Amino acid sequence: MNTTLRTAISAKRDDLIALTQDLIRIPTLNPPGRDYRLICEYMDKRLRKHGFETELIRATGTPGDSDKYPRWNIVARREGKRPGDCIHFNSHTDVVEVGAGWTFDPFGGEIADGKIYGRGACDMKGGLAASIIAAEAFIETHLDFAGAIEISGTADEETGGYGGVAYLAEQGYFNPSRVQHVIIPEPLNKDRICLGHRGGWWAEIETKGEIAHGAMPFLGDCAVRHMGAVLQEFEDKLFPAMAARYTDMPVVPEGARQSTMNINSIHGGEAEPEEGFTGLQAHCVPDSCRIVIDRRFLIEEPLDQVRGEVMGLLEGLRATRANFEFELTERNSVLPSMTDRDAPVVRTVAEAIEQVMGKPPEYVASPGSYDQKHIDRIGTLKNCIAYGPGVLELAHKPDEWIGIDDMIDSAMVMGAAMESLLLKG
Ligand SMILES: [Zn+2]
Repeated sequence: MNTTLRTAISAKRDDLIALTQDLIRIPTLNPPGRDYRLICEYMDKRLRKHGFETELIRATGTPGDSDKYPRWNIVARREGKRPGDCIHFNSHTDVVEVGAGWTFDPFGGEIADGKIYGRGACDMKGGLAASIIAAEAFIETHLDFAGAIEISGTADEETGGYGGVAYLAEQGYFNPSRVQHVIIPEPLNKDRICLGHRGGWWAEIETKGEIAHGAMPFLGDCAVRHMGAVLQEFEDKLFPAMAARYTDMPVVPEGARQSTMNINSIHGGEAEPEEGFTGLQAHCVPDSCRIVIDRRFLIEEPLDQVRGEVMGLLEGLRATRANFEFELTERNSVLPSMTDRDAPVVRTVAEAIEQVMGKPPEYVASPGSYDQKHIDRIGTLKNCIAYGPGVLELAHKPDEWIGIDDMIDSAMVMGAAMESLLLKG
């Protein structure tokens, strides 16, 4: 890595801190999807000053988009002097709800012990700030680079990315003829390269019954007991089968190397009373019981098989259990994504990590999905990784923070990666 670039990034430490604080102070909570326009305008102003051409793009008509909460995105592009590859840094601008347990102001950007605190500090405004600083320092250091640098700030990653990266991919922004390398600075730790993620399948299952007086349940049919039978099938057959399947993907933490399923919610019968209600319940046999399942699957498992396995158990119950009726409604699905370890962006960032950190990277994959899925499936761009500063386990927690030194180190890695991709020829 060029020592001038190293010096330039180090010299921007105060700038990096102020930028991160500014980004945290824009409370881009999602849901509902607040202040996307504001954060895009902030990035717009800053990046234009550094010679980027910018576009603000509203994902009109995508889930959650409304005049009150419009889904704004920004794509900024800085052309080099000569033709060459384009490297794109994509960060989501949304953050999840604050939750309880904070000792810092969640939107204050306060600093203590070399860390900046706030909702979104690690996931992922710290990564966004690091990529901006790396790009600006690179441009100042290398006036005659080849190709192009793009930086995007996108909406709604925390709710599926449909008003963000998915929309941009549909509009051609991740077409491999426009962009050749993508780095998503999600908080995977500064010395790890995340190659991809598992898949997800979300569905609601309802069992049906028949309402009757609770004193004569034999005159009705209890939907909750039918759901009990479903859960028993899961315990006896599905969970053991999933636990036996291991992936070759380097998923962390270790427990997520196998297939998993969470039961998000269960509800049957009478609605929960409002808080403070002091009356007694009515006596009814529930005629409906619903669960929502969250099934995470491996790259070795086809989605049809994942779906078919659950359907098979339900059909089996219909064949063997008296009066068992069910309805399964699929809510969403996401296919796994896995970039090849020999892909150019992987090899480039691996070398950059060795140069900056003095040791080879660890390769990982994510248990949950992130925007790589849209770049891969809709954009058909396979040369994509997640790499950025921050401790993944802090994401969505109270007192979330990003280490200032970690941001500097990962900005160095990003800078070194730009040098090897954009100074060729
Ligand atoms: Zn994130």
